[in-house]
Amino acid sequence: MTTRSYHVITYGCQMNVHDSERISGLLEEAGMVRAAGEGPSAGADVVVFNTCAVRENADNRLYGNLGHMARVKESHPGMQIAVGGCMAQKDRDLIVKKAPWVDVVFGTHNVGALPVLLERARVEDAAQVEIKEALETFPSNLPSRRESPYSGWVSISVGCNNTCTFCIVPALRGKETDRRPGDILAEIRMLVDQGVQEITLLGQNVNAYGVEFGDRQAFAKLLRACGQIDGLERVRFTSPHPKDFTDDVIAAMAETPNVMPNLHMPLQSGSDAILKSMRRSYRSEKFLGILSRVRDAMPEAAITTDIIVGFPGETEADFQETMRVVEASRFSAAFTFQYSIRPGTPAATMPGQVPKPVVQDRYERLVRLVDDIAWQENRRFEGQEVEVMFAVGEGRKDQSTNRMSGRARDNRLVHVAVGDDPAELPRPGDVATATITYAAPHHLNSDRPLRNLRRTRGGDAWELGTSEPKPVGVGLGMPTMRVG
Ligand code: SF4
Repeated sequence: MTTRSYHVITYGCQMNVHDSERISGLLEEAGMVRAAGEGPSAGADVVVFNTCAVRENADNRLYGNLGHMARVKESHPGMQIAVGGCMAQKDRDLIVKKAPWVDVVFGTHNVGALPVLLERARVEDAAQVEIKEALETFPSNLPSRRESPYSGWVSISVGCNNTCTFCIVPALRGKETDRRPGDILAEIRMLVDQGVQEITLLGQNVNAYGVEFGDRQAFAKLLRACGQIDGLERVRFTSPHPKDFTDDVIAAMAETPNVMPNLHMPLQSGSDAILKSMRRSYRSEKFLGILSRVRDAMPEAAITTDIIVGFPGETEADFQETMRVVEASRFSAAFTFQYSIRPGTPAATMPGQVPKPVVQDRYERLVRLVDDIAWQENRRFEGQEVEVMFAVGEGRKDQSTNRMSGRARDNRLVHVAVGDDPAELPRPGDVATATITYAAPHHLNSDRPLRNLRRTRGGDAWELGTSEPKPVGVGLGMPTMRVG
């Protein structure tokens, strides 16, 4: 029997990106190889959609893409299509009703069942739909095909015990399940042994970590334990929640040299009335208080956020509160979203849905303010030196502009002009000092020669191709969509 190939298409947040690494690992363990073909299916025998229900129009997008896949399947005998992730957990057998050419539907709690379900679908020649209500195996215990040899995601918890009214995650990912610290640290050590030098700890609400085994300081302890791991150069985490953010975490960040000075702290709204209606139990003064304590402890910290504009009931006065908090917070970047209805969430049926033109107008004013502040903050770096860890896929125009891109310690994106001399060319994973010559709202540029180029184990791992990197990067700490 010839070796079958697979292709995973991932939508949504970094949870999904990480789950897709598990899906790839599982399929490889089952004897498949990654497809190298062209087009939406990459010519694969098995195409897996790892879906997201958070994004607007997620349904239309998925069913549109599945429709396209029907035609591909007709011309590819034996091809199988599987759908997993949050849309699968939400729509279940509706997926095979709407798209009967789908072979397998699996949920967020039983990723590990995918190879068996594919085989069963093939043998029985019938679609398999299997959705579980509770987590079967913590995803980190499944095999993995890591996308980057120098950076890795490490799950510390899945699910969420909060009930933010705009969020579908609690319904689809279930209650929080915490992984034991020993297991997490063992995984990190294993990754570091393989050349990984940067990790991002991942959970829907990392500050609640430990709630399941009764240790409220567990997250701070975990950060400090990461500081003891030789060879681990950069530790990041996402996402914290202002409600649970405690000073022991700030102290652990400030006192652990390899924990990076950057914090992504979702604000969502600056209006206390809207926060209440979102069922987010902190208020704007608490949020600003955390930021000020973080900056007292780490003056160099870059703080980013998520903000939703036009939540049901939001008045101009509420919006002005958001503008006030944004002004005071001096974010280095913000992911701004226009509220739109997510079926199945409490906010979907709330009165006072804000008309689209009003949302658009507020959104544009907010983006202008966010960009102005981010640019002012970035300009402070002109003439300064920053340590850059280079990465694949961070700079879309790198090839045409003869640049390489990476992240500063505070996670700012830096584009660096590089020459042709291979001796001076960093590899993805390598680290060097760049002098910032020009700051833009969303990135820094360096047109001076690099200094202190350091060949790292991560760069060696990249060069050895132990895990061939993806051309489109997994932007650590800068996901496309996040809830938290
Ligand atoms: S927004 Fe974040 S904290 Fe709130 S319910 Fe969703 S995952 Fe949990």
